[in-house]
Amino acid sequence: MSNRLKGKVALVTAAGQGIGRAIADKFASEGAGVIATDLDASKLQGLHARLHKLDVRSEQDIEAFGRDIAREFGAIDVLVNCAGYVHQGTVLDCTDKDWDFSFDLNVKSMHRMIRTFLPAMLEKKSGSIINISSAVSSIRGVPNRYAYGATKAAVIGLTKAVAADFIRRGIRCNAICPGTVESPSLEGRIAALSKETGRPPDAVRQGFVDRQPMGRLGTAEEVAWLALFLAGDEASYITGQAHLVDGGMAM
Ligand code: NAD
Repeated sequence: MSNRLKGKVALVTAAGQGIGRAIADKFASEGAGVIATDLDASKLQGLHARLHKLDVRSEQDIEAFGRDIAREFGAIDVLVNCAGYVHQGTVLDCTDKDWDFSFDLNVKSMHRMIRTFLPAMLEKKSGSIINISSAVSSIRGVPNRYAYGATKAAVIGLTKAVAADFIRRGIRCNAICPGTVESPSLEGRIAALSKETGRPPDAVRQGFVDRQPMGRLGTAEEVAWLALFLAGDEASYITGQAHLVDGGMAM
């Protein structure tokens, strides 16, 4: 540990598993005070952090939580918006309900979180906001990621808008765009696709691997290293960008 985030308070959404958990772990191991949140609080067990159930789809929960955090910590230094969901399919498979759910969880949640936690950061004149987008966004189109790709493109737009609005007030806002990363939800997508298509799970998994030029999936920790850099003062001149950690997927 080199204490790269010593003295900072960092809040992570969807920290129960996958990329969010790896980020919360990495930040804690680098000396940050971490507030780890998830819809399913039981998944947060084992993290060295203050643990809190938080549904990023609930404006009411976020506002109440924001007031608690403001009372206890004042401003947070780092906000990582990680919660997201993959809708599988094309435009023809996407109902209005699917579309609205995807945008609510993947994009509007970030709007709610930033609107709640940014004012205290502005008072402190410092803060790093990191939004988890995807290589599948405005960067790459891939089959069967219609609603997902649209939401993750919106995350990049939201990120740039926040960065531009507050660039002279000490706030940096960046997006991370992972390629395909080993995670519990990827395992779920592999199982579901295998069931739907009748292809063996190993063949479905190989399909995900094949779209990664490095010939392997990424790990959540590889994403967490980039988040660590963007969170800390080493990235003090970096804002408003979509940063790929994608094993060459977008080359
Ligand atoms: P995951 O999908 O396995 O886990 C998601 C977590 O989000 C779970 O712990 C779940 O309980 C929580 N969650 C679900 N709904 C929530 C809500 N309403 N409020 C709060 N928490 C909620 O994790 P992952 O695959 O690592 O994905 C994390 C993020 O990274 C997502 O935004 C995803 O789109 C993005 N991403 C993932 C990959 C990948 O290949 N895994 C690639 C690119 C981007």
